[in-house]
Amino acid sequence: MRAVRYHGRGDIRVDQIDEPMCGDGEVKIRPAFVGICGSDIGEYVGGPRTVPTQPHAVTGATLPVTLGHEFSGTVEAVGTGVSRVKVGDRVAIKPNLYDGSCASCLVGRVNSCQNLGFIGYSSNAGGLSDYVVVKEKHAIQLPDSIPLDIAALIEPLAVAWHAVKRSPIQNANNETVLIVGGGPIGLAVIQVLKRLGLKTIVVTEVSQQRQAFAKALGATQVLNPKTDDVVAKVRSMTNDAGANIAFECSGIQAGLDSAVAGIRARGTVTIVSLWEEKPLIDAFDLCRMRSM
Ligand SMILES: [Zn+2]
Repeated sequence: MRAVRYHGRGDIRVDQIDEPMCGDGEVKIRPAFVGICGSDIGEYVGGPRTVPTQPHAVTGATLPVTLGHEFSGTVEAVGTGVSRVKVGDRVAIKPNLYDGSCASCLVGRVNSCQNLGFIGYSSNAGGLSDYVVVKEKHAIQLPDSIPLDIAALIEPLAVAWHAVKRSPIQNANNETVLIVGGGPIGLAVIQVLKRLGLKTIVVTEVSQQRQAFAKALGATQVLNPKTDDVVAKVRSMTNDAGANIAFECSGIQAGLDSAVAGIRARGTVTIVSLWEEKPLIDAFDLCRMRSM
């Protein structure tokens, strides 16, 4: 079967590999729609970082690996011991792999597993292939109301839900949220905040197309950091205080700087972005202005 595999930086190939068999407790899925994540691009341009170059502690695999961790599909076969998932089910994939035994896993923080891995990064199980076999727990059945193309967006939407859940929103009516970067994750954060009833959502984004998406999805104000003084505008909207919470979704230094400068004293910056380079943080500014 075909699989889109990562062999190393700048080296992704469509390979012919053996079709996987369904083992005990596993389900075989035919992927329908697969998202290409910003992290896939980062891995192509600057990796391997997430892809294992030594045998992965959970999968035992090393590169080349099959890409694709944001995907939906249809169940083609189930192994012995599988009871919840049935052949023909439409599913979205929960891609996180974890060992279940490290200090993080033992306190329930499996997303911070010391041997964290992913379907789509850590073995030949990835969505960009004709078939993928995963443990039953990774296959989440879809309600009839969610089509398979939308279902491929559930994983990035879950990233946004988690980021918002980890942020201290106390009063949806009165708080001002700044979202730096209107890419897919920033746009997903807008939708989660709207769902929670946030009334003031400011988004900064340079791309006109993404600005239009941000407005359509519920941003109350969209600023262009190339032409607008983002920090001054946010302050003018908040009696000179700054935003309660900023979500950094751009992954660039200027974005992080405006997120930090855009919050009020004791405000919160939630970093949702992944980084090619290690960003600089002005610790003295944080100490002096943001946390007093
Ligand atoms: Zn663990």
